[in-house]
Amino acid sequence: MSRRIPLIAGNWKMHKTGMQAVEAATQLQDLVKHATDVEVMIAPTFTALYQVAQALKGSHIAVGAQNLHWEKQGAFTGEISADMLVDAGCRHVIVGHSERRQFFGETDASVNRKIRAALAAGLFPVFCIGETEAQREAGETFSVLDKQVRDGLKDFVFDDLSDLVIAYEPVWAIGTGKTASKEQAQEAHQFIRSLLDTLFGKPFASAVRILYGGSVKPDNVRALMEMPDIDGALVGGASLDPETFSKLVFFNH
Ligand code: PEP
Repeated sequence: MSRRIPLIAGNWKMHKTGMQAVEAATQLQDLVKHATDVEVMIAPTFTALYQVAQALKGSHIAVGAQNLHWEKQGAFTGEISADMLVDAGCRHVIVGHSERRQFFGETDASVNRKIRAALAAGLFPVFCIGETEAQREAGETFSVLDKQVRDGLKDFVFDDLSDLVIAYEPVWAIGTGKTASKEQAQEAHQFIRSLLDTLFGKPFASAVRILYGGSVKPDNVRALMEMPDIDGALVGGASLDPETFSKLVFFNH
């Protein structure tokens, strides 16, 4: 199995002005400057991206956006293209977060187009999938994940996907304080990896990083990260405070 470098990613959602974001990013940079064998990414709001990317220049913290549009340019009021994100200093972009699916009409089809646009621009898409509480209770977790992966990655071939990161985020665990148990998370990650093996082959499936997201905190990160198919975390609430987030980056200390 290829070695997968853990990725600890913070999704700042609609928090922090430009100045606040730069302050938090700079503090974080200082706190994690000695971290090794781990990649770190933060995703501030669009308006803070350029400032944060400038502040983090030369550091090993990558900057990501929280969304993008699939077209390169055009009459799409309020939208932002992949090239614009690259221009602002982004390396990653979160695609298909459950809040975008729930509140902004994101579908598997739009997610597919966005992943394609991100990869074409040289960005690392962080492709989010996950079941709702009702779906889990109805025993539909695996069929939901199956559909999200198949449709989100429809018509891709393995070579297209080398920069993809997947985030398994059970919707019932996001922002609720209810974390999936390490066994529940592992079971889902293993399912996703074996589906990727079926769809794209073993080299891709064993190399792709699958992050867990959903109320990851300093007191549960280590147990989750010990599971064989969990390669990192996508973190909302606990990423906002640099001190707390740095504890996640040092999950193995
Ligand atoms: C998220 O929004 O991706 C997330 C996982 O949030 P939280 O860590 O707050 O549950």
